[in-house]
Amino acid sequence: MNLNDPVSEIPGIGPKKSILFNRLKIKTIDDLIHFYPKKYIDYSNVDLIKNIKNGPVCLKVKFLSPKTRHISRSRTITEAIASDGSGSVLVIWFNQSYRAASLDLNSEYYLIGNYELNYNRFSIINPSLEKVGPNPINSARILAIYKETNNLNSKDIRKALASCINLASQYKDIYPSNLFKQFGLMDYALALKEIHFPKNSNNINLAHDRLAFNSIFDLILSAKLNENEIDSFKSVKIDLDIDLAKDFVNKLPFKLTDDQRKVIWQIMNDLNKKKPMNRLVEGDVGSGKTVIAAMISLLLINKGYQTSLMAPTEILAKQHYLNFIKMFSSYTKNIYLLTSSTPNNERAKILEIIKSNQPLIIIGTHALLNDNLRFSKLALVCVDEQHRFGVNQRKLLKQKANYLPHLLSLSATPIPRSLALTLFKELKISVLKTKPKQDTVINTYIKSKSQYLRSVETIKKLLNKGQQMFVIVPKINSKIDQDDSLENVLEETTKIFKEFKVDFLHGKLKSDLKNQKLEDFLNKKIDILVSTTVIEVGIDIPNATVMVIYSSDSFGLAQLHQLRGRIGRGHLDGHCYLIHDDNKIPSRRLEALKSTNNGFELAELDLKIRGPGAIYGNLQHGLLDLKLVDFHDTNLIELAHQAVEKFINNPKNMLEYKSLFKKVDNLRKIINLD
Ligand code: ADP
Ligand code: MG
Repeated sequence: MNLNDPVSEIPGIGPKKSILFNRLKIKTIDDLIHFYPKKYIDYSNVDLIKNIKNGPVCLKVKFLSPKTRHISRSRTITEAIASDGSGSVLVIWFNQSYRAASLDLNSEYYLIGNYELNYNRFSIINPSLEKVGPNPINSARILAIYKETNNLNSKDIRKALASCINLASQYKDIYPSNLFKQFGLMDYALALKEIHFPKNSNNINLAHDRLAFNSIFDLILSAKLNENEIDSFKSVKIDLDIDLAKDFVNKLPFKLTDDQRKVIWQIMNDLNKKKPMNRLVEGDVGSGKTVIAAMISLLLINKGYQTSLMAPTEILAKQHYLNFIKMFSSYTKNIYLLTSSTPNNERAKILEIIKSNQPLIIIGTHALLNDNLRFSKLALVCVDEQHRFGVNQRKLLKQKANYLPHLLSLSATPIPRSLALTLFKELKISVLKTKPKQDTVINTYIKSKSQYLRSVETIKKLLNKGQQMFVIVPKINSKIDQDDSLENVLEETTKIFKEFKVDFLHGKLKSDLKNQKLEDFLNKKIDILVSTTVIEVGIDIPNATVMVIYSSDSFGLAQLHQLRGRIGRGHLDGHCYLIHDDNKIPSRRLEALKSTNNGFELAELDLKIRGPGAIYGNLQHGLLDLKLVDFHDTNLIELAHQAVEKFINNPKNMLEYKSLFKKVDNLRKIINLD
């Protein structure tokens, strides 16, 4: 047997059983060994029958007089007496007629089960047995309990593991084992054994910590290497023009909030250093992040530099573009929009201008990066609502002059505080805590489909007042809750709201058409827009007050929060209907969403509900195993910080731990919080 063999190589696992294992995403022995228990039950104390009380027991017994009888045509009952010298107890199995014949009356067995009153007699029903031997697997020890599936229970999983767990010693520990030992961590192969077959409860903790530590170590090491790399580059040091800043602020149609001022000041300080800035501005939907990026860009343009702003969608890029033209009207006309739908001659012109050293701002989508733009004086890159902007992408923008532009990320999906304080200590984060306008309320309702249909009259009252509504579907061709494809929901909505003008939007439409429809919606030519999540980020339609989200349970919490942020942006309250199937119970996520409108609280709740997947989503597979990681375990995370520090301070390690660095290099490419 080898670690990479399919589980069917394990003795006792035939083709049928291996399909059951596959159902739990266990294909190979390696997968099986990394299929960690979800909890443990302690059966390590063997009880004497004379002492047992109501509840779970583990006994060491011999059996007497097993008998099976039929209680109906298809049902049997098998009874036996189990005794251990101190006393005896009645044992009953239902529909396990093979038991009577298979019991070896001369052997001793470990028996585990529940001792309780059944049919007026104390007995143990359907206990599980294991012959007494030196290394019990399924009794007389702490038992690991796994996620189970039909016809495959923890006992089966333990049995399979018992026959292959020794292969764990074949894993080469890619981590610095001596260093880890100094930090009191358990050996890797031992940890894998102990997580499944712990000798005692202390070993569960040690094994758990070691396995979690690997992942935390990977994460911190990646972040640290990214940071060091960025630090090795220079950027341009810029003295910003305070008078211009004041003038810009005075011309705004609103007063900046204290938080906005503070963040702008922090950014100005960062830019005043040769070190490339790497700052994340977190602020809930509507907290006013755009104006910060605008002001900083203007100040840089004024100093003769080029800047760029990348938006996640074309629609949003266009919206930013129009917004910037307004904000910059009395200062500069050098604002350009560059997206995949920019006509070729226009694009060529813009590319020329970029090359010409002219100070400007280019607004576009992330496709800007692929465009092979020859910026000559790019000093700042603003990335809007997109975490995924790693070192590699950043290096693409490295200047001919060999300096790196400053980076400013804006995000409405905050990194939970617990994480920011522990794992990403080095990342500079500015927070916009208060929103400029808090005069509107967004009400959130969780409704089954039929409850929603009963709310239609209430919604129509709002539409009759001239307010507008989004109807969101998960995908163009979704069939999550019955048929919630765009087409179907469009038809249904048109029927329900027949006195209103309904139109639709999705990502596959030509961008001209998309923009046209949004403009029509903005200009109230459309009352109801049925759409996929293309409207998720940033879109600003102040008159839209109602949002109905079909199959709301299929969205992530952050995404739902973003979607909900599209309504109630004007002076009117918002109403968000989260629709779920009549036959399903709404998830905790929907309840969380209803409970608060605060993105930071939601991020924290998401981390609690979904675990680290909330942050690393699809990273889970392969490269990074976060199943055992608890980001609230500050002690372990602090320990990992120290270990990483020690580890990278020794330059020899680079050569000695090649496989570790290779793994971490891959992680660095996709880890996005650098
Ligand atoms: P987000 O942080 O979600 O990107 P925006 O930057 O789009 O938010 O701002 C939302 C709205 O609030 C915009 O219409 C913007 O002009 C407005 N706004 C920004 N700052 C202020 C402020 N200090 N006072 C009033 N309105 C503001
Ligand atoms: Mg925004």
